[in-house]
Amino acid sequence: MANQEKLCGNKDCDRWVQIGTGSHTINRTQTDYCSFYCRLYTEQGLSKVAVPDTLGRNNMRFPPIERWCDACGKTIELIWNDHRSNRCFCDRTCHFKMRSDKSVRRPELRYQMLRLMRDHPQEVWNIHEISDLLDKSLNRYRVNWRILSQVLRVLKSEKDSPIEQIEQGVYRLKAEAYRGPLLRFVSRNGS
Ligand SMILES: [Zn+2]
Ligand SMILES: [Zn+2]
Repeated sequence: MANQEKLCGNKDCDRWVQIGTGSHTINRTQTDYCSFYCRLYTEQGLSKVAVPDTLGRNNMRFPPIERWCDACGKTIELIWNDHRSNRCFCDRTCHFKMRSDKSVRRPELRYQMLRLMRDHPQEVWNIHEISDLLDKSLNRYRVNWRILSQVLRVLKSEKDSPIEQIEQGVYRLKAEAYRGPLLRFVSRNGS
C-alpha cells in the first residue's frame, strides 16, 4: 500500500495519510485519515464553521470536537490544527501517567494497542494486523506479534479485561472500552 500517496478521507482536508508521522501531531491510529480528528469529523457528518476575524470577515474553520482524557476522563478538545488532532490526554501529567506506570509490564505498548483498537474503524483484529500497524505507528521501539501476544495473554486474563478473544489470534475490544479513559485498563493501581 502506497501510504505516502493517499489523501485524507476527510473531504475538507488536504493532508496525507501517514501512520507514524504527521505534520501536527503523530497519527498513531488511522489508515484512511490523516488524524483521529478527521475520522470523527467525517463520521459525525460535521462541516466547517464560519468564524469572524478581527475585521468581521468570516473564515471557514474546522470546529473543535469533544473527547475525554484517557487518564483522568476530563473533557478535552480535538482541534484540526494546533497540535491537537490526535490528542488523548489533557496535560503532560496525565500523559506521563501512561508512560510511567509501574503496575504492569509494557504499559505504553498496552495503551497504544488498546488505543489503536478503539480509535481505528476496524472492530475485529488479527494479532498480526495489530502488530504490523503498531510497528509502523510507534517510533521509539519495534513491535512484533510475539511481544504483542504476551501482552494480550496477560490482559485477557485480568479481571475486567477490555479484550475479548473471538478465535485463536483474533480479538476485539469489549463495548465498555469504547467509553471513558483507557488508562483504567492499563494501570492496576486503580489510578
Ligand atoms: Zn485529515
Ligand atoms: Zn487528564
